[in-house]
Formats: sequence, C-alpha cells, structure tokens
Amino acid sequence: MRKRGVWTGFSTNGLLLGKYHERILDADIDMLSVSIDSHYPEVHDNIRGLPGLYEKTCAHLLDSRTRKGLSRPSVKVHFTILPGNIDEMRGYYETFASRFPELDMIKFHFPRFATPAMAEEYARVLRTEFGVEPTSHLGNFLNIDSFSDEDCARLHRNLQYLLEQPKASVTGPADLEGILHYFKSPDLPPKGDRCACFKSMTVQPDGSVVNCADYPDLVYGNIQSQSLLEIWEGEIASRWRAYLERHGNPGVLARCSRLYPGINSKAE
Ligand code: SF4
Repeated sequence: MRKRGVWTGFSTNGLLLGKYHERILDADIDMLSVSIDSHYPEVHDNIRGLPGLYEKTCAHLLDSRTRKGLSRPSVKVHFTILPGNIDEMRGYYETFASRFPELDMIKFHFPRFATPAMAEEYARVLRTEFGVEPTSHLGNFLNIDSFSDEDCARLHRNLQYLLEQPKASVTGPADLEGILHYFKSPDLPPKGDRCACFKSMTVQPDGSVVNCADYPDLVYGNIQSQSLLEIWEGEIASRWRAYLERHGNPGVLARCSRLYPGINSKAE
C-alpha cells in the first residue's frame, strides 16, 4: 500500500505485538498506534481487564522496527483524555518520553463525546438513509457535566505544557474556548473541518471495510472478495460521502476529535 502512495496505519492495544512484529514489518505500514490508558500499570491493566498487559505491551512496543534497525513504521502511544485522568497527563508523557526515547509520538486524544440524543440521531440516519441497524453508538456516553469548567481549565494548562515538549501531539482543540465548546456544546461540530471519510476507510480484522474506525457500522465491502478501489468507488461508500457533503457528520459523529487538525509540539 505504501508503495502505491496510500498512507496506512495500524491500531492495537499491544497485546500481540510480540507475536506479530515480523508480520507488521512485512506489511510495510507507515504508523503503528498503540493505545495505553495510563502510565500506572495496574490502572491500565484494570481498564483493559487484562492483568500484565501494560508490561507485555511495553516490552514489545518498538519491536516492529528496532529488531531490524529500521526507522519505519513510526510508533506512537495514544492516551485518551477522560474526566478522571486529566492530572495524569504530564506523568504519562514523562514516563513514556524517558522510558522510550525512540518513540515518534506521544498523542493525547480527546474522548468520544456523545449524548443519548446524539446517539439516537446517528442511529436514525443510519437506519433511514442506509438501512443499517447500528450498534457502535450504544454506551460510551459522557454526561454534559462530566467536564467541569475547572476540568477544562486544567486540561488547557496541561495541553499548553505538553505542546512545549518534544514529540507530544494533541488530537482535538487545544485553546480554552475550543475545549469548552467541545465539552459544553457536544452536538455542535467544529466549523469547516471534514470527516476523514472523504479520504480514508478502515479495514476490520475480518476484512470488512467500514467508513469509520470509531463507529464501524456502515460496511462498504470486504477485501476478501473486492479490491480496495472497487470498495472506495462502490455505491455505499459514494452515497455516504455524498450524505456527509450535504448534511455534515450526523449525531455522535459530529463530535469526533479527528475533525480537528492534529496539533504537534512546538518543540519539534
Ligand atoms: S467520524 Fe471521526 S473517526 Fe469517524 S471517519 Fe469521521 S473523522 Fe474519522
């Protein structure tokens, strides 16, 4: 894919990195993104429900390239900001920056922010316009009061600090006004930004290709039986892009942090 000019990333919780690093190298991808929820091993393991996962992941974090002395794929660790972990952000950065100086990026990602009303709107569109009964919008709701004004101010201070550090990156708004808008007006999308659906699609482990990595309900096709080009130009993918063009992201998709441009550290 890379040789054909298609940027390819791979997201994982890291559990099987040790087992599959050779295959990751063979796939010649651009970026490996590893989700680690905390720099406290017990907190990460508890969130994931997998004892020992933190150390297993860290032990193999850079295997997919250092074993062969390669500089690719770039490797990033990925932290999802939640109301309960705002005060952990600096410690997280410092832990990974010092333990893994070869890491390419330490990314802080705004959470999915969905209310039940946004979920219902998303489901209505998928049902009525595309004949699909979605499931990914269920659960994961954040209350509109989950982030207080004081939380937003602390988050803002932490992001300002992190964006001065090498290799830190933020997906979401980094200015205080944008942060307050994100958490206090969840159904208002940021102005002028386009969903990644216009230039990307996601391949699931079973080969099915979907519109969205976070809400993988709309299946465009399957690489077991179709080429990627065929899928990209297919009827469902084309109809979805046309829908977004006319109406913007519906419901829960309106508050996707990826609608914001990624912000990289000024220390690069
Ligand atoms: S809603 Fe967000 S995650 Fe989903 S395709 Fe659009 S930009 Fe990507």
